[in-house]
Amino acid sequence: MNKEEFVKALKCLNIDISEKQLNDLDIYYKMLIEYNTHTNLTRITEEHEVYLKHFYDSLTLVKAINLNNQTLLDVGTGAGFPGLVLKIVFPNLKVTLVDSLNKRITFLDTVIKTLQLKDVKTMHARAEEYALNNKEKFDIVTSRAVANLNMLSELCIPFVKLGGYFIPMKADAKEEIETSRKAIKTLGGVIKNIINFQLPNDTGIRTLIKIEKVSKTSEKYPRKFAEIKKKPL
Ligand code: SAM
Repeated sequence: MNKEEFVKALKCLNIDISEKQLNDLDIYYKMLIEYNTHTNLTRITEEHEVYLKHFYDSLTLVKAINLNNQTLLDVGTGAGFPGLVLKIVFPNLKVTLVDSLNKRITFLDTVIKTLQLKDVKTMHARAEEYALNNKEKFDIVTSRAVANLNMLSELCIPFVKLGGYFIPMKADAKEEIETSRKAIKTLGGVIKNIINFQLPNDTGIRTLIKIEKVSKTSEKYPRKFAEIKKKPL
């Protein structure tokens, strides 16, 4: 997807991107490629692929929810997908980016400083540890390519405010959804909507699972990661 196609595809998502935001994404892309030469951030490096599989893909979250003036947590953000892309394109979103790998957090801090972004915080932590003091704090929690849905639900749902949403970004997730229904319910969530679509030019199936937080998560969750892995809910 070249930049012209990117702008056009965003129009179909009802996103009108400004010149300044496009320029910020261009700087972000260049920093990603430069940093990636010495620190592993992404396998996708061709410009047209980054615009499609990282930038456009991150922005498809708008298919599930209105992002205006919300607080959003991105769990396992890596090089900033989807959280940092969402922050650039939706400047009034208050974003927290969590990752357990410090080198990725250092990269994100450099981008945030260079682009002078406000209301975006990075956190070097494991999600299950960060959750201990940050339960029920965020309107929206999202996560892409971090864990299977039942483990991911335990890492993410505790962070969501009552009435807020956990919206994992997945590829084909039919089986995962079925095996995670019990975990989602146990953690206080209810699946409200499952949004399936294709990335442009048939480059992959995507699924957004919109899970509403309808009751408080029990204090015993999230458990330690070893336990989550050994005995998934
Ligand atoms: N979300 C990004 C994306 O879609 O490109 C990164 C995906 S990468 C495959 C998974 C990321 O999750 C890594 O950066 C890893 O350090 C982070 N991660 C894995 N488990 C985590 C945990 N329990 N808490 C916080 N970050 C975690």
